[in-house]
Amino acid sequence: MPGRQSTKDPVGAPSIATPSIKETQIIAIYGKGGIGKSFTLANLSYMMAQQGKKVLLIGCDPKSDTTTLLFGGRACPTILGTSGEKKRAGDKVSIGDVCFKRDGVFAMELGGPDVGRGCGGRGIIHGFELLEGMGFHEWDFDYVLLDFLGDVVCGGFGLPIARDLCQKVIVVGSNDLQSLYVANNVCSAVEYFRGLGGNVGVAGMVINKDDGTGEAQAFAKAVEIPILATIPAHEEIRRKSANYEIIGRPGDRWGPLFEELATNVGLAPPIHPKPLDQDGLLGLFTGDVVGRHVVLEPARPEDMCSAETFKKPSLEVIYDDV
Ligand code: SF4
Repeated sequence: MPGRQSTKDPVGAPSIATPSIKETQIIAIYGKGGIGKSFTLANLSYMMAQQGKKVLLIGCDPKSDTTTLLFGGRACPTILGTSGEKKRAGDKVSIGDVCFKRDGVFAMELGGPDVGRGCGGRGIIHGFELLEGMGFHEWDFDYVLLDFLGDVVCGGFGLPIARDLCQKVIVVGSNDLQSLYVANNVCSAVEYFRGLGGNVGVAGMVINKDDGTGEAQAFAKAVEIPILATIPAHEEIRRKSANYEIIGRPGDRWGPLFEELATNVGLAPPIHPKPLDQDGLLGLFTGDVVGRHVVLEPARPEDMCSAETFKKPSLEVIYDDV
């Protein structure tokens, strides 16, 4: 596994980070829940493996569903869950307990806390500690792909960026404000941690479920990141994905799409994005779509309770009147 090197820009230098890539490219994929990160990653990792690359896919979403599509709908045991069970039994986790293979792709799920309990971000930190204990830094993959939830903006989910656990980030978005809001947040996080001395950059964006309205393309242009692939909103893709079918196969109808994505992901340098402010994001959409002309009307105290409550005489003692 690669180490890291400082890539601080000299003042006035172009805003492209020096690629600090050694042998293994560690790439974190962020995006809004449901935008198609797992779909993109399952097909991308499958295509990369068919191209002869050694690929490890790690699901870092507490929902633990990153590898489900790759394994035809089957859930695999998580690292955190297995580690807890083994610890109670006085055993140690071995790689075969948590890492599974399909057609050349290696995959595992970090897992997370039980619903309603614990901290997902803390789980990620603990999961990476367990990975390091299993020899993560000695493994010799061409690519390690990390799947992260992007909706959460807390430090736990910014961990791979904050700690330089990856070299580059890919955002997945579509032509809707919510997914572009999340992609923009990720760009902001990259720039924030870069200001603190971090080295992670954004490699680009995958546009998923593209219906041709163009907002995602406009976003990528505005934040100055390349588009790595555009996956159309197509009924066949939706149906096959819902049926846990891999479509990123050489020779298949959608194969060239994922061949192009695999090539672009490998070659794209980590770039420093220019995140937008809220008005900039809204400006990507026509006003009547996002309700940009809504006026913020301040609430009054009498709006907040019934008229009777509001008319009750005050019990406050005014001492000047006593
Ligand atoms: S919001 Fe973030 S830091 Fe807070 S509990 Fe959830 S994962 Fe942990």
